[in-house]
Amino acid sequence: MATMRSFPRQLNGTVNISADDIFIAVKTTKKFHKSRLELLLDTWISRNVQQTYIFTDGEDEELKKKMGSHVINTNCSAAHSRQALSCKMAVEYDKFIESGNKWFCHVDDDNYVNMKTLVQLLSQYPHTQDMYIGKPSLDRPIEATERLGDNKMRPVNFWFATGGAGFCVSRGLALKMSPWASGGHFMNTAEKIRLPDDCTIGYIIESVLGVPLTRSNLFHSHLENLQQVSRSEVHKQITLSYGMFENKRNIINMKGAFSVEEDPSRFKSVHCLLNPDTPWCPPQVAY
Ligand code: UDP
Ligand code: MN
Repeated sequence: MATMRSFPRQLNGTVNISADDIFIAVKTTKKFHKSRLELLLDTWISRNVQQTYIFTDGEDEELKKKMGSHVINTNCSAAHSRQALSCKMAVEYDKFIESGNKWFCHVDDDNYVNMKTLVQLLSQYPHTQDMYIGKPSLDRPIEATERLGDNKMRPVNFWFATGGAGFCVSRGLALKMSPWASGGHFMNTAEKIRLPDDCTIGYIIESVLGVPLTRSNLFHSHLENLQQVSRSEVHKQITLSYGMFENKRNIINMKGAFSVEEDPSRFKSVHCLLNPDTPWCPPQVAY
Protein backbone atom coordinates (compact mmCIF):
# COMPACT_ATOMS: atom_id res chain seq x y z
CA MET A 1 0.00 0.00 0.00
CA ALA A 2 1.10 3.51 -0.67
CA THR A 3 1.81 5.44 2.48
CA MET A 4 -0.92 7.93 3.30
CA ARG A 5 -0.52 10.68 5.79
CA SER A 6 -3.48 12.28 7.51
CA PHE A 7 -2.33 15.80 6.71
CA PRO A 8 -0.26 17.02 3.80
CA ARG A 9 3.09 18.34 4.89
CA GLN A 10 4.76 21.04 2.90
CA LEU A 11 8.48 20.98 2.22
CA ASN A 12 9.22 23.58 4.88
CA GLY A 13 7.62 21.44 7.56
CA THR A 14 4.39 23.36 7.93
CA VAL A 15 0.94 21.85 7.54
CA ASN A 16 -1.36 22.80 4.71
CA ILE A 17 -4.44 24.34 6.23
CA SER A 18 -6.81 26.99 4.96
CA ALA A 19 -9.28 29.33 6.59
CA ASP A 20 -11.92 26.63 6.05
CA ASP A 21 -10.23 24.47 8.69
CA ILE A 22 -10.75 27.07 11.42
CA PHE A 23 -13.88 27.56 13.52
CA ILE A 24 -14.03 31.08 14.91
CA ALA A 25 -16.43 31.63 17.78
CA VAL A 26 -17.35 35.25 18.50
CA LYS A 27 -18.88 35.81 21.91
CA THR A 28 -21.39 38.63 22.08
CA THR A 29 -24.56 39.73 23.87
CA LYS A 30 -27.72 41.30 22.49
CA LYS A 31 -26.92 44.79 23.75
CA PHE A 32 -23.69 44.80 21.71
CA HIS A 33 -25.20 43.64 18.38
CA LYS A 34 -25.42 47.22 17.09
CA SER A 35 -22.57 48.90 18.93
CA ARG A 36 -19.90 46.22 18.46
CA LEU A 37 -20.91 43.32 16.24
CA GLU A 38 -21.98 45.44 13.27
CA LEU A 39 -18.43 46.80 12.95
CA LEU A 40 -17.07 43.25 12.85
CA LEU A 41 -19.67 42.17 10.28
CA ASP A 42 -18.68 45.14 8.09
CA THR A 43 -14.97 44.41 8.44
CA TRP A 44 -13.25 41.06 9.10
CA ILE A 45 -16.32 38.85 9.36
CA SER A 46 -17.55 39.99 5.91
CA ARG A 47 -14.61 38.14 4.38
CA ASN A 48 -14.87 35.09 6.64
CA VAL A 49 -18.55 34.29 7.00
CA GLN A 50 -17.99 30.58 6.35
CA GLN A 51 -15.59 30.23 9.29
CA THR A 52 -17.32 32.51 11.79
CA TYR A 53 -20.03 31.64 14.30
CA ILE A 54 -21.67 34.26 16.53
CA PHE A 55 -22.68 33.15 20.03
CA THR A 56 -25.23 35.46 21.57
CA ASP A 57 -28.12 35.49 24.03
CA GLY A 58 -31.03 37.12 22.20
CA GLU A 59 -32.95 36.84 18.93
CA ASP A 60 -32.05 39.33 16.19
CA GLU A 61 -33.78 38.88 12.81
CA GLU A 62 -31.44 41.28 11.03
CA LEU A 63 -28.38 39.42 12.26
CA LYS A 64 -29.94 36.11 11.23
CA LYS A 65 -30.50 37.48 7.71
CA LYS A 66 -26.78 38.23 7.44
CA MET A 67 -25.31 35.17 9.16
CA GLY A 68 -28.07 32.52 8.86
CA SER A 69 -27.26 29.38 10.80
CA HIS A 70 -23.95 30.95 11.87
CA VAL A 71 -25.78 32.91 14.57
CA ILE A 72 -26.31 30.74 17.60
CA ASN A 73 -28.66 31.81 20.33
CA THR A 74 -27.13 30.06 23.31
CA ASN A 75 -30.19 30.72 25.49
CA CYS A 76 -27.66 31.62 28.16
CA SER A 77 -28.49 34.52 30.46
CA ALA A 78 -27.56 37.97 29.14
CA ALA A 79 -25.89 38.88 32.43
CA HIS A 80 -22.13 39.46 32.65
CA SER A 81 -21.96 36.79 35.35
CA ARG A 82 -19.36 34.06 35.53
CA GLN A 83 -22.11 31.48 34.96
CA ALA A 84 -23.57 33.24 31.91
CA LEU A 85 -20.15 33.56 30.27
CA SER A 86 -19.29 29.93 31.00
CA CYS A 87 -22.64 28.89 29.58
CA LYS A 88 -21.70 30.58 26.27
CA MET A 89 -18.22 29.04 26.21
CA ALA A 90 -19.79 25.61 26.75
CA VAL A 91 -22.01 26.09 23.69
CA GLU A 92 -19.01 27.35 21.65
CA TYR A 93 -17.12 24.20 22.55
CA ASP A 94 -19.99 21.85 21.70
CA LYS A 95 -20.63 23.56 18.34
CA PHE A 96 -16.94 23.33 17.46
CA ILE A 97 -16.83 19.61 18.21
CA GLU A 98 -19.95 19.15 16.10
CA SER A 99 -18.41 21.14 13.21
CA GLY A 100 -15.56 18.71 12.62
CA ASN A 101 -13.14 21.62 12.01
CA LYS A 102 -9.44 21.34 12.82
CA TRP A 103 -9.01 24.41 15.01
CA PHE A 104 -11.22 26.15 17.56
CA CYS A 105 -10.55 29.85 17.99
CA HIS A 106 -12.48 32.03 20.41
CA VAL A 107 -12.65 35.83 20.23
CA ASP A 108 -14.68 38.59 21.90
CA ASP A 109 -16.85 41.06 20.02
CA ASP A 110 -14.19 43.76 20.46
CA ASN A 111 -11.55 41.79 18.53
CA TYR A 112 -10.42 42.20 14.94
CA VAL A 113 -9.18 38.93 13.40
CA ASN A 114 -6.59 38.87 10.63
CA MET A 115 -7.43 35.52 9.09
CA LYS A 116 -4.35 35.44 6.89
CA THR A 117 -1.91 35.58 9.82
CA LEU A 118 -4.09 33.26 11.89
CA VAL A 119 -3.88 30.63 9.14
CA GLN A 120 -0.10 31.16 8.96
CA LEU A 121 0.28 30.59 12.70
CA LEU A 122 -1.90 27.49 12.87
CA SER A 123 -0.17 26.03 9.80
CA GLN A 124 2.91 25.58 11.97
CA TYR A 125 1.21 22.87 14.03
CA PRO A 126 -0.73 19.71 13.20
CA HIS A 127 -4.27 19.95 14.58
CA THR A 128 -3.93 16.38 15.86
CA GLN A 129 -1.24 17.52 18.31
CA ASP A 130 -2.19 19.09 21.70
CA MET A 131 -2.08 22.83 21.07
CA TYR A 132 -3.40 25.74 23.15
CA ILE A 133 -2.25 29.09 21.77
CA GLY A 134 -2.89 32.62 22.99
CA LYS A 135 -1.62 35.37 25.22
CA PRO A 136 -1.79 35.54 29.02
CA SER A 137 -2.96 38.81 30.57
CA LEU A 138 -1.12 38.12 33.83
CA ASP A 139 2.65 37.92 34.27
CA ARG A 140 2.39 34.80 36.45
CA PRO A 141 0.13 31.77 36.70
CA ILE A 142 -3.26 32.39 38.25
CA GLU A 143 -3.71 30.96 41.74
CA ALA A 144 -7.02 29.22 42.26
CA THR A 145 -8.65 26.81 44.66
CA GLU A 146 -10.07 23.63 43.30
CA ARG A 147 -13.14 22.32 45.13
CA LEU A 148 -12.81 18.55 45.28
CA GLY A 149 -16.13 17.69 46.97
CA ASP A 150 -16.72 16.74 50.61
CA ASN A 151 -15.46 20.22 51.47
CA LYS A 152 -11.92 19.41 50.39
CA MET A 153 -9.93 22.14 48.64
CA ARG A 154 -6.68 22.14 46.76
CA PRO A 155 -4.60 25.10 45.52
CA VAL A 156 -3.89 25.06 41.78
CA ASN A 157 -1.69 27.33 39.66
CA PHE A 158 -1.95 27.53 35.92
CA TRP A 159 -1.51 29.87 32.97
CA PHE A 160 -4.46 30.83 30.81
CA ALA A 161 -4.85 32.72 27.56
CA THR A 162 -7.01 35.77 28.08
CA GLY A 163 -10.31 35.46 26.19
CA GLY A 164 -10.25 39.14 25.25
CA ALA A 165 -7.18 38.60 23.05
CA GLY A 166 -8.55 35.45 21.42
CA PHE A 167 -7.06 31.97 21.69
CA CYS A 168 -7.03 28.73 19.71
CA VAL A 169 -7.22 25.05 20.62
CA SER A 170 -6.39 22.18 18.26
CA ARG A 171 -9.03 19.53 17.61
CA GLY A 172 -6.79 16.86 19.11
CA LEU A 173 -6.66 18.72 22.40
CA ALA A 174 -10.32 19.78 22.30
CA LEU A 175 -11.36 16.12 22.09
CA LYS A 176 -9.31 15.33 25.20
CA MET A 177 -11.08 18.17 27.04
CA SER A 178 -14.45 16.57 26.48
CA PRO A 179 -15.00 14.98 29.96
CA TRP A 180 -14.55 18.46 31.53
CA ALA A 181 -15.93 20.62 28.74
CA SER A 182 -18.73 18.94 26.77
CA GLY A 183 -22.45 19.11 27.46
CA GLY A 184 -23.04 20.41 30.98
CA HIS A 185 -19.54 19.53 32.16
CA PHE A 186 -17.98 22.91 31.37
CA MET A 187 -20.31 24.73 33.79
CA ASN A 188 -19.53 22.20 36.53
CA THR A 189 -15.79 22.57 35.93
CA ALA A 190 -16.09 26.38 36.05
CA GLU A 191 -17.92 26.10 39.37
CA LYS A 192 -15.14 23.93 40.77
CA ILE A 193 -12.64 26.78 40.50
CA ARG A 194 -15.12 29.70 40.50
CA LEU A 195 -13.27 31.59 37.82
CA PRO A 196 -14.36 33.02 34.43
CA ASP A 197 -14.67 31.01 31.24
CA ASP A 198 -11.21 31.71 29.82
CA CYS A 199 -9.58 30.69 33.11
CA THR A 200 -11.64 27.50 33.08
CA ILE A 201 -10.26 26.65 29.63
CA GLY A 202 -6.72 27.18 31.00
CA TYR A 203 -7.52 25.07 34.05
CA ILE A 204 -8.78 22.13 31.97
CA ILE A 205 -5.82 22.29 29.58
CA GLU A 206 -2.90 23.08 31.92
CA SER A 207 -3.99 21.72 35.31
CA VAL A 208 -6.11 18.74 34.32
CA LEU A 209 -4.52 17.65 31.04
CA GLY A 210 -1.01 18.97 31.67
CA VAL A 211 -0.66 20.68 28.29
CA PRO A 212 1.22 24.01 28.44
CA LEU A 213 -0.02 27.23 26.88
CA THR A 214 1.92 28.26 23.77
CA ARG A 215 2.30 32.04 23.86
CA SER A 216 1.90 34.30 20.88
CA ASN A 217 2.51 38.02 21.06
CA LEU A 218 0.42 38.46 17.95
CA PHE A 219 -2.84 38.27 19.93
CA HIS A 220 -3.95 41.52 21.58
CA SER A 221 -6.54 42.48 24.17
CA HIS A 222 -7.37 45.92 25.56
CA LEU A 223 -5.80 44.85 28.86
CA GLU A 224 -2.43 45.75 27.28
CA ASN A 225 -1.29 49.13 26.01
CA LEU A 226 -2.40 48.95 22.38
CA GLN A 227 -0.42 52.09 21.47
CA GLN A 228 2.55 49.75 21.23
CA VAL A 229 1.10 48.22 18.08
CA SER A 230 1.94 50.58 15.25
CA ARG A 231 0.75 50.83 11.68
CA SER A 232 3.87 49.27 10.23
CA GLU A 233 3.23 46.14 12.31
CA VAL A 234 -0.53 45.89 11.90
CA HIS A 235 -0.42 43.40 9.05
CA LYS A 236 1.64 40.93 11.15
CA GLN A 237 -0.82 40.78 14.06
CA ILE A 238 -3.44 38.05 14.48
CA THR A 239 -5.97 39.82 16.69
CA LEU A 240 -6.46 43.43 17.75
CA SER A 241 -8.79 45.08 20.20
CA TYR A 242 -9.81 48.47 21.53
CA GLY A 243 -11.09 49.85 24.80
CA MET A 244 -10.86 52.55 27.42
CA PHE A 245 -8.22 52.84 30.13
CA GLU A 246 -8.36 55.51 32.83
CA ASN A 247 -10.85 57.47 30.70
CA LYS A 248 -8.52 57.44 27.70
CA ARG A 249 -8.95 55.47 24.53
CA ASN A 250 -6.71 52.41 24.37
CA ILE A 251 -6.31 51.91 20.63
CA ILE A 252 -3.56 50.89 18.25
CA ASN A 253 -1.29 53.62 16.96
CA MET A 254 -2.12 54.15 13.30
CA LYS A 255 -2.95 56.88 10.89
CA GLY A 256 -5.30 55.33 8.41
CA ALA A 257 -8.10 55.75 5.94
CA PHE A 258 -10.38 57.09 8.68
CA SER A 259 -9.85 59.55 11.52
CA VAL A 260 -10.16 58.50 15.16
CA GLU A 261 -13.50 60.36 15.27
CA GLU A 262 -14.84 58.42 12.26
CA ASP A 263 -13.28 55.14 13.35
CA PRO A 264 -12.67 55.12 17.11
CA SER A 265 -11.76 51.40 17.26
CA ARG A 266 -9.37 51.79 14.25
CA PHE A 267 -10.86 48.56 12.83
CA LYS A 268 -12.15 50.23 9.65
CA SER A 269 -8.71 51.69 8.99
CA VAL A 270 -7.08 48.31 9.70
CA HIS A 271 -9.52 46.62 7.37
CA CYS A 272 -8.74 49.07 4.55
CA LEU A 273 -5.01 48.60 5.08
CA LEU A 274 -5.37 44.81 4.85
CA ASN A 275 -8.09 44.78 2.18
CA PRO A 276 -7.73 47.90 0.03
CA ASP A 277 -10.14 46.48 -2.58
CA THR A 278 -13.08 46.85 -0.14
CA PRO A 279 -15.72 49.03 -1.89
CA TRP A 280 -16.19 51.42 1.05
CA CYS A 281 -12.45 52.01 1.53
CA PRO A 282 -11.14 55.27 0.12
CA PRO A 283 -8.64 54.83 -2.73
CA GLN A 284 -5.18 53.98 -1.33
CA VAL A 285 -3.20 57.13 -1.32
CA ALA A 286 -0.51 57.85 1.19
CA TYR A 287 -2.09 56.92 4.48
N1 UDP B 1 -20.38 39.86 27.21
C1 UDP B 1 -21.43 38.97 27.35
N2 UDP B 1 -22.42 39.28 28.21
C2 UDP B 1 -22.43 40.42 28.94
C3 UDP B 1 -21.34 41.33 28.80
C4 UDP B 1 -20.34 41.00 27.93
O1 UDP B 1 -21.46 37.94 26.68
O2 UDP B 1 -23.35 40.62 29.71
C5 UDP B 1 -19.31 39.53 26.28
C6 UDP B 1 -18.99 40.68 25.34
O3 UDP B 1 -19.85 40.68 24.24
C7 UDP B 1 -17.53 40.41 25.00
C8 UDP B 1 -17.00 39.76 26.29
O4 UDP B 1 -18.14 39.27 27.00
O5 UDP B 1 -17.41 39.50 23.93
C9 UDP B 1 -16.20 40.70 27.15
O6 UDP B 1 -16.98 41.83 27.44
P1 UDP B 1 -16.38 43.30 27.56
O7 UDP B 1 -15.48 43.56 26.40
O8 UDP B 1 -17.52 44.25 27.73
O9 UDP B 1 -15.58 43.23 28.92
P2 UDP B 1 -14.05 42.97 29.27
O10 UDP B 1 -14.06 41.69 30.03
O11 UDP B 1 -13.28 42.86 27.99
O12 UDP B 1 -13.65 44.15 30.07
MN1 MN C 1 -13.48 43.67 26.06
